[in-house]
Amino acid sequence: MLNESSPINFADPLPSAVDVVVIGAGIIGISTAWFLAQQGVSVAVCEKGRVAGEQSSRNWGWIRKHGRDRAELPIVIESIEHWKSIAGELDEDIGFAQHGVMYLAETDAELAERERWLSIARDHELDTRMIGASELAQIITEDSSKWIGASYTPSDARAEPFVAVPAIARALRKKGVTITENCAVRTVDIAAGRVTGVVTEHGLIKCTSVVCAGGAWGSLFCRNLGHDFPQLTVRATVARTTEAPDIFKGNAASHGLAFRRRNDGGYTLAASGNFEHFIGRDSFRYLPQFVPSIVRARKDMSLRFGAGLFARMRGTKSWSGDDISPFERTRVLDPEPSAAALGQIRVQLKAQLPALADIRLEQAWAGMIDTTPDIVPVMDSVTGLPGLFVAAGFSGHGFGIGPGAGRVMADMVLGNPLGHDLGRFRLSRFSDGSALELGPAL
Ligand SMILES: Cc1cc2nc3c(=O)[nH]c(=O)nc-3n(C[C@H](O)[C@H](O)[C@H](O)COP(=O)(O)OP(=O)(O)OC[C@H]3O[C@@H](n4cnc5c(N)ncnc54)[C@H](O)[C@@H]3O)c2cc1C
Repeated sequence: MLNESSPINFADPLPSAVDVVVIGAGIIGISTAWFLAQQGVSVAVCEKGRVAGEQSSRNWGWIRKHGRDRAELPIVIESIEHWKSIAGELDEDIGFAQHGVMYLAETDAELAERERWLSIARDHELDTRMIGASELAQIITEDSSKWIGASYTPSDARAEPFVAVPAIARALRKKGVTITENCAVRTVDIAAGRVTGVVTEHGLIKCTSVVCAGGAWGSLFCRNLGHDFPQLTVRATVARTTEAPDIFKGNAASHGLAFRRRNDGGYTLAASGNFEHFIGRDSFRYLPQFVPSIVRARKDMSLRFGAGLFARMRGTKSWSGDDISPFERTRVLDPEPSAAALGQIRVQLKAQLPALADIRLEQAWAGMIDTTPDIVPVMDSVTGLPGLFVAAGFSGHGFGIGPGAGRVMADMVLGNPLGHDLGRFRLSRFSDGSALELGPAL
């Protein structure tokens, strides 16, 4: 997994001026740049660490409509079409394939819970359906007897997170987009009340618009500019196996385990429902807004104190463009995987997929998922600071929707019609007294 000592692969010299600066080279920033470049706009992407160093290379690789929030669905439906065409356009294999997503059920109660989402699927004419044990046995060809059925969306997809975003970034450069790693954006430059550039650790880039696609750092960046964006992070642990028997080609989640066949013949595994929040100052700052989601997730979420508690409690003072910013101090957020979660993966493999129980775990890692109080992202312009846009808080499902979100953000910056109702994703919902409606769980 990438960290601060990984080689730098994107080191374009900073332009003095562009139309748009994108902060962050995860799937959201790179996709936004992709669609801006497609419309002839000049773009610079500044990445404090490494392209896809944080969530965008650490995720499970699921690209799913299945189980989505109603307002996100049209964007993710669009997104899958973009994944398809981007994968076709690249000269590298990013592992994009449509082998479906299924949520498995062991009991009638679980099955009924899975079935509830089907009315949303029907409204959007998706291919989602309930399947019984016999059809399941043909899709998961060994060891599937534990489950009595599943909800299943065959057209859902996956791509390989380690390779997808860097490959898209390489293609973007060929389109003239500047991408610079180890280049933190400290703040924005403001004149006459609007954004006129960004101040990076390597100097100023003049621009008319800035898209903050900073993932877990979005809240900190916005708060330093006087705009509150409630966001917290949770640690999620993942592992991958060596090459293993081909018992299933798609993505599946059961009680306690998530598994996905990889392009290289192994599986990506996770202890589903094992999330950890590390207490810090932001936990208290945003607690009131997060109470409903914390209460709902109480079985899946543990609160941790852990190393670094004092630093997290101290928080971060504000800074200017002349100061070294927190973004330079942590180039790549690279949390240790949780030993407990890895233990759960082993136990669940044995109990649920014995055919894979003895396969070696080749690698384990963790990522910090950035989440909002209602578990859906912010995609919006910032009221009071013309020229600044935010696309962050994708709450554990930003990889799949990434290209769709990037297209939407590009059109938002350019003032074009967005094609979807983005009201649910406005930043002001956290401060205008709106009752927050929780989206589906992480
Ligand atoms: C373990 C795990 C499993 C997941 N599984 C899935 C899944 O299967 N399917 C799915 O759809 N989603 C999944 N997700 C969620 C998904 O990975 C994220 O929602 C998505 O990658 C977010 O993309 P992003 O571009 O917003 O953020 P990131 O990928 O985190 O990128 C943000 C980038 O911004 C950079 N940055 C921040 N601030 C600055 C600054 N000031 N200057 C310069 N650079 C800056 C950071 O260094 C970082 O590289 C998972 C996430 C995790 C952690």
